[in-house]
Amino acid sequence: MAGFKGMVALITGGGSGIGRETAIGFARGGASVVVCDVDEAGGAQTVTLVEEAGGAALFVRTDVGEADQVEAAVTAGVQAFGSLNFVVNNAGIGGESALTGAYSVEGWHTVMGVNLHGVFYGMRYGIPAILASGGGAIVNISSILGLVGWAAAPAYVASKHAVAGLTKAAAIEYAQQGIRVNSVHPGFIDTPLLEKAGITPGSDGYAFIAGKHALNRLGTPQEVANLVVWLCSDEASFVTGSNMTVDGGYTCQ
Ligand code: NAP
Repeated sequence: MAGFKGMVALITGGGSGIGRETAIGFARGGASVVVCDVDEAGGAQTVTLVEEAGGAALFVRTDVGEADQVEAAVTAGVQAFGSLNFVVNNAGIGGESALTGAYSVEGWHTVMGVNLHGVFYGMRYGIPAILASGGGAIVNISSILGLVGWAAAPAYVASKHAVAGLTKAAAIEYAQQGIRVNSVHPGFIDTPLLEKAGITPGSDGYAFIAGKHALNRLGTPQEVANLVVWLCSDEASFVTGSNMTVDGGYTCQ
C-alpha cells in the first residue's frame, strides 16, 4: 500500500509478531517507522527488516507501562523524523491464566499496566505530536477478547474491552481535528505471544483454538497488519471510532 511518503508511524511492541509486520507494512508504503519495544534484539531485527523493505526505522527501547518512556519515545521519533502521523498501540501481554476468584492482584495490575495504561500513554503523548504534525490516525490493538469473554484471563479480557471504549472516546474527541482513532480486534494469531502461552502448532490446544474460527485456522500477523495499515491510509478516510474484527469468523458465530 502506497501513500505514506514523508509520514511517520510509531508502533509499540514492534519487535515481534503483529507489530513487526505492521512496521514493515508502513515502510512498504513509504513511511518512516519508530519501533518501540522492551525486546531490544527483536526491535533491532525489525529495524533491519524495515530497511530491507526500503524504509527508515528507529528503535527506541520503551516499556509502554511507563508513561515517561512512552513520552520519550514520541519525542525521539519526532526528533529523528520531523513529525508523527500514526501511532499503533500494539504492545500487549497475555498475563497469567487463572479464574477471577484466584487471579493475583499483582498479575492484574501488570496486565492493566501494559494492555490498558500503555495504550492510554501512547494516545496521551502521541495525540499532541500528531496534532502538531497536521493530523493522522491511531490504531489500538485490542482482541476478540475485547468483544467477548474467555475463561481464566480476566485481566486480559477486561483490558481489551477497555481499549475498545477508550478508542471510541478519543475518536469523538479528535474527529474534528484530523485524527481518526480505531481499534482492531484480531482472532487468535500465530505469533510468539501464543507460543509463550504454550499454544504451538501440532498441540491439542492449537487445534481446539483453530476450530473456534469459522475459517478453522489461526490468522497470520500479516493479515492483521494489512488492516492496521489500511486503517491509517486515506482509503479509510470515513472510518473512525470503529472496533474492527480480523478474526476469521470467530465472533460472528
Ligand atoms: P508478540 O509477538 O508477543 O509481540 C508483542 C511484543 O510486545 C513483544 O516484542 C513483547 O516483548 C513486547 N512487549 C511486551 N510488553 C511490553 C511492554 N511493556 N512495552 C513494550 N513492549 C512490550 O505478540 P502479538 O501476538 O504480536 O501481539 C500484539 C498485540 O496483539 C497484543 O496487544 C496482543 O494482545 C494482541 N493480540 C494478539 C493475538 C494473538 O493471538 N497473537 C490475538 C488478539 C490480539 P517480549 O516478547 O519481550 O514480551
